Amino acid sequence: MDLTWSAAEDEFRDEARAWLEANVPRGLPSGDTREGFARHLEWERLLFENRWAVVSWPEKYGGRDGSLWEWLIFEEEYYRAGCPQRVTQNGIFLLAPTVFEFGTPEQQDHILPRMAAAEELWCQGWSEPNAGSDLAGIQSRATKVDGGWLLNGQKTWTTRGAFCTHLFGLFRSDPASERHKGLTYVLVPLDTEGVTVRGFGRLDGDEGFADVFFSDAFVPDDAVLGGVDNGWSVAMATTGSERGLTLRSPGRFLATTSRLLQLDRSLHPPRGGAMRQRLVEAWMRAEAYQLFTLDTVTRLSEGGSVGAESSINKIWWSELDVDLHELALDLLGPEAQLEGLWSKGYQFSLSGPIYAGTNEIQRNIAAERLLGLPKA
Ligand SMILES: Cc1cc2nc3c(=O)[nH]c(=O)nc-3n(C[C@H](O)[C@H](O)[C@H](O)COP(=O)(O)OP(=O)(O)OC[C@H]3O[C@@H](n4cnc5c(N)ncnc54)[C@H](O)[C@@H]3O)c2cc1C
Repeated sequence: MDLTWSAAEDEFRDEARAWLEANVPRGLPSGDTREGFARHLEWERLLFENRWAVVSWPEKYGGRDGSLWEWLIFEEEYYRAGCPQRVTQNGIFLLAPTVFEFGTPEQQDHILPRMAAAEELWCQGWSEPNAGSDLAGIQSRATKVDGGWLLNGQKTWTTRGAFCTHLFGLFRSDPASERHKGLTYVLVPLDTEGVTVRGFGRLDGDEGFADVFFSDAFVPDDAVLGGVDNGWSVAMATTGSERGLTLRSPGRFLATTSRLLQLDRSLHPPRGGAMRQRLVEAWMRAEAYQLFTLDTVTRLSEGGSVGAESSINKIWWSELDVDLHELALDLLGPEAQLEGLWSKGYQFSLSGPIYAGTNEIQRNIAAERLLGLPKA
């Protein structure tokens, strides 16, 4: 692994840094509220107009034909400049890599440019009231009819579902099948007749979630991504992106660590002793994540793939996020009650060990698939 950046990569970093510093929007309301989401979309569209929305995608879809290295650099600069969460993340970071891998050329040409431009906004429809960790236990159905499929059932915990225009979901297409077999990955416009979206609030007060109900909602055959009854493999590719490389890049944690160090320097009297130990440890863990990611990208650039290791990755970033925010609250002491940003970040960090598959499940995967331990 060569840890030096090339002159072209340094130049790319300088260009990204200059643009982001000049354009970063300040003080946006949470993207998990209706008003905040609309404001974030303005930002997403500005990113797109300046070809910063999806730097590693082909130019014809609005990208810069950049490498994964350039994507990592961009992410680092994005968080360094204090830019806001990407409300398009479930499209550009989860669905898009799956569309690149499994989509037909027609699907790619239709979906990707609209996604990059933040015209079509995607949410993830996997969890159901009785199927979260046990995703293979889903009950929503896709029934074959002339020219397409009728969808029935309910999805829940759909992040930003109330604000999005499209959903990628997993449905049981073979009624005689069980568990991982007979599932199909379907792409659904949310304004389809028979689809009802009902937003609901999160514990932190933001209206970030939705229930999505399907009642004989018709989608055409070309709404299937990656083949009928092949949904589990397609979904696992999405999961690899969610837990592995794209959803939570190291830039986010490097930036949080650097904000923590600034916070520590701003405190009077300075906190010493155990707090200093924790700060150093936090910094080392963020750096370790960066190095691990560089190793992953090296592997991918050489034609490798991310497999069950994505589970370890997910445990690492989600636990690191909780610890970084806990440390901030401990540094602030009682003042944390009055401060907004770290407390809000802390509340959200607590959901990290749950979404993208709980950490208990990730530990089971690591135990069984990486360490070869017997099934739990
Ligand atoms: C912020 C947030 C955003 C989300 N966004 C989305 C989204 O956009 N789309 C979507 O489809 N879903 C989304 N989810 C749902 C998420 O995927 C589920 O919450 C998660 O998979 C857990 O499922 P569950 O809530 O049904 O809990 P359960 O599966 O009921 O689990 C309850 C507890 O039991 C433990 N457990 C269950 N089975 C085992 C086992 N075999 N071994 C050990 N422990 C076990 C779990 O780890 C957990 O602690 C989101 C969740 C959160 C918190």
